[in-house]
Amino acid sequence: MEWEVVIGLEIHTQLNTKTKIFSAAATAYGAEPNTQACAVDLGLPGVLPVLNKEAVAKAAMFGLAVDATINDGSVFDRKNYFYPDLPKGYQISQLAIPIVEHGKLEIALEDGSTKVVGITRAHLEEDAGKSLHEDFDGMTGIDLNRAGTPLIEIVSEPEMSSAKEAVAYMKKIHSIVQYLGICDGNMQEGSFRCDANVSVRRKGETELGTRTETKNLNSFRFVERAINYEIERQIDVIESGGRVAQETRLYDADDDSTRTMRSKEEANDYRYFPDPDLLPVKLDPELLAQLQKSLPELPDAKEKRFCSEYGLSAEDAGQLSASREMADYFEQVVSHANGQAKMAANWVSGELSGALNLNSLEIDQSPVSAERLAQLISRIADNTISGKIAKEVFQDMWSNDKTPDQVIEEKGLQQISDVGELEAIVDKVIAENPKQVEQYLSGKDKVFGFFVGNVMKLTKGKANPAQVNELLKKKLV
Ligand code: ADP
Ligand code: MG
Repeated sequence: MEWEVVIGLEIHTQLNTKTKIFSAAATAYGAEPNTQACAVDLGLPGVLPVLNKEAVAKAAMFGLAVDATINDGSVFDRKNYFYPDLPKGYQISQLAIPIVEHGKLEIALEDGSTKVVGITRAHLEEDAGKSLHEDFDGMTGIDLNRAGTPLIEIVSEPEMSSAKEAVAYMKKIHSIVQYLGICDGNMQEGSFRCDANVSVRRKGETELGTRTETKNLNSFRFVERAINYEIERQIDVIESGGRVAQETRLYDADDDSTRTMRSKEEANDYRYFPDPDLLPVKLDPELLAQLQKSLPELPDAKEKRFCSEYGLSAEDAGQLSASREMADYFEQVVSHANGQAKMAANWVSGELSGALNLNSLEIDQSPVSAERLAQLISRIADNTISGKIAKEVFQDMWSNDKTPDQVIEEKGLQQISDVGELEAIVDKVIAENPKQVEQYLSGKDKVFGFFVGNVMKLTKGKANPAQVNELLKKKLV
């Protein structure tokens, strides 16, 4: 039996404003518990919320970036429920008229093609506080610092059909909000997290299957795993004659499974109604025009430009444009390395990214600056060192804060440029290996690599590979 998978994501994106969406309390992460929640965030009697203009601007900016409609006159509603981390008894959100609607986003699929995913809406709302279960024996701690932090909840159409597509979509949104500078993107701190709605149906079926919603996934890996687990589980349920229950589930990373949190029957009736303390949001057309003008070049546009301007493959361009900082670093390398774009791309997404990952560093913390990496690339381009030696030089630059020329000089790594010297070594290798010479001359082309390898060994990698090849070809006849 063939199955079709349907996925829709709800992504909670914290906006990086200094203060809360309806109060002047700070939003900074990591403060002492309950030091950053004021009377407004707690909803104490008599307080009045005041809308944070910057949160509105940042939400609108997101809408512009995904070709959405920005609604003039969006409305804040109260979503009523009780939870210990929501002492107000309601969350202020937007239901009927969200600030952003009808957007779209293009994602790249594994086979190289692209797909457009619809963005149903993105509404402004306030985050709740946090319940802390660790460190409190037999009790739950409540930290209300997060209460009132501005969020946009970005809701997709149910248009993704695999866990991989869902992750590609989420990564793209993650990249865009960081390009826009509206969210710090820190998933460990919960600034960017997602609920995954998943259903399955038999191929050819036109009605959507019953969905489950797995809550609060805060890493790309968890999203992929939770979705794949749900797909398997739902197919199993149906194939063994059961029915999928519409419910909210929780993902457990420890045993990589999801479990029921609450079923539809227990679902809350939120008794939404417009918040009487807040007016509909009027947008100044001048502000919108200004935001539109201030939009940076976004990942897709940058990727296309990297392909056309630097001749990069779509894969390289995609990787380098995924983060704005990475893209900027790459372009600095190219400009300092006389347009050695291909090599710059290889080094930034290869050696440099590898070293950053290994040391858990962000690119703006790289001990090797773009300018120095460009110098290293220039030394390969002008044949001072080989690509292989360059990797050794890079390690030294990384660990010891040196320029490539310093390392090359100190370690005497310049390529052998004296043809006579190199020729003598080539002659020696040929003379010492008559058997291999015979094999090569009788048609075993593969043996050629053996000679190259031996010359490289004797020169400790300092021979110019192209020159070695040329000399060997000339002499092995
Ligand atoms: P709610 O707000 O009650 O969770 P919505 O209708 O707003 O419900 O849907 C939330 C998310 O669920 C959206 O991203 C939507 O695309 C997705 N979704 C809706 N129906 C399905 C379905 N049958 N299968 C998978 N995803 C779905
Ligand atoms: Mg939902």
